Amino acid sequence: KNEEDAAHAAASLADAGAPTIFDKIIRKEIPSTVVYEDEKVLAFRDINPQAPVHIVLIPKVRDGLTQLSKADERHKDILGHLLCMTAVIAKQEGIEDGYRVVINNGPSACQSVYHLHLHIIGGRQLKWPPG
Ligand code: IMP
Repeated sequence: KNEEDAAHAAASLADAGAPTIFDKIIRKEIPSTVVYEDEKVLAFRDINPQAPVHIVLIPKVRDGLTQLSKADERHKDILGHLLCMTAVIAKQEGIEDGYRVVINNGPSACQSVYHLHLHIIGGRQLKWPPG
């Protein structure tokens, strides 16, 4: 419940334009282990990995995309690019045999950072359904 309240608060702040921790990672103000970067996206290791390989992939410009449900026509290119790059990153990480791409959308889905991000998770046998 506390986490859900915190997520609602984080969502409101981000929707109002406040930066998230990912902005600091993009600006290299806090350290992260970057595994892939181009002009549009950044991928780094999750600080709290849920599997041997756990990468967070984000657009460098949030452009209102605090969460997937805010997506509209103008985000089509970046969303396509993010999805395409998951395969490149998975191969680079040696998990092309099987991995999961997850987008948590909103407090009930345990989204905690309100800057759209894809989780790329692998390196172990994953279970289905997830929790
Ligand atoms: P969400 O729960 O889908 O919003 O995912 C946010 C993810 O970002 C979580 O898996 C966190 O562990 C991760 N995370 C938060 N802060 C940092 C950081 O400073 N470095 C790397 N990963 C982070």
